[in-house]
Amino acid sequence: MRVLGIETSCDETGVALWDSEAGLLAHRLHSQTEVHAAYGGVVPELASRDHIRRTIPLVEQTLADAGVDLDGVDGVTATAGPGLLGALLVGLSAGKAIAFARDLPFLGIHHLEAHLLAPALEDNPPPFPFLALLVSGGHTLLAEVAGVGRYRLLGQSLDDAAGEAFDKTAKLLELGFPGGPAVARAAEGGDPEAFALPRPMVDKPNLDFSFSGLKTAVLNAAKTRGEDADAAFRRDLCASFQEAVVDVLWRKSARALRQTGLERLVVAGGVGANAHLRARFATEAEARSVGLHFPRPEFCTDNGAMVAHAGGLRLLAGERDGWDRTAVARWPLDELTPPSI
Ligand code: ATP
Ligand code: MG
Ligand code: FE
Repeated sequence: MRVLGIETSCDETGVALWDSEAGLLAHRLHSQTEVHAAYGGVVPELASRDHIRRTIPLVEQTLADAGVDLDGVDGVTATAGPGLLGALLVGLSAGKAIAFARDLPFLGIHHLEAHLLAPALEDNPPPFPFLALLVSGGHTLLAEVAGVGRYRLLGQSLDDAAGEAFDKTAKLLELGFPGGPAVARAAEGGDPEAFALPRPMVDKPNLDFSFSGLKTAVLNAAKTRGEDADAAFRRDLCASFQEAVVDVLWRKSARALRQTGLERLVVAGGVGANAHLRARFATEAEARSVGLHFPRPEFCTDNGAMVAHAGGLRLLAGERDGWDRTAVARWPLDELTPPSI
């Protein structure tokens, strides 16, 4: 089955064509970074308008890349939530319109489900069950994944998401937008132990996270130098911040592995693109014989491939949505159920 997938939940327009036999056939991405950079964050109305401009051309380019036309598509899926409502509606409406016009099955997909199944797009896909650490711009959570739609939430952030902590840290250090890659770049060559930053919640026995205090600690450290902060100071501060986030994420993941007895860990979401995180997790996982799976870095952040894939798995199982399917800004992951026919 060949499935066209559309992602427009935030500030990336992503389109892909996924085949249940051959895998990913083509994918295209348009990032709105330049649209929002001047504002230091995503402006929802501008995001919706840009998705309107980009979605259909990206669909045409993706199909052309794959060398097929709409006759070669068997189903359509689009992100239905969670995310920015106006942005979601663009991709969802485009997807429904294409499916309706071509009399194809349609399904709205959960953005976080798409993120956490994305490692299956790579060689050596993770078999179920596994532990998933989802670290994105809007979410930080640990879940036990027993199958498609079988998610048990084990813990989550009580305040900022890990990606949000990167973004806010970048903003207060004036490193630019989006913050994650900017902080990672600024941290290169820095001393991760230069600043004794807190490891919020690690001593609590639960699997929840908190990152807002860490951001405050960075702010206080930055204030000690004020205008005098030179490149070396910033490098060390960014390295220490990055180390603190990654340290907390690993220690909570390790605890979740112990508690559940699971032997495989999947890391997904934008922060999973972080090179320091990938290196630390690889070392720790190898030492404990834990199977570790990441999507390639470009499929950690938002993209159409993960949507075409997750939607494709459900469409393949026979699940369909009616034309009244609408977008939802809030949609808890653990409300999902296995593919329903
Ligand atoms: P959600 O998926 O929760 O709805 P989102 O779609 O905005 O949120 P993603 O696209 O998964 O989030 O990831 C974006 C986040 O990942 C941003 O917060 C960004 O700063 C962060 N990020 C991207 N690359 C890196 C990196 N190399 N290091 C750290 N963080 C990164
Ligand atoms: Mg984004
Ligand atoms: Fe995302």
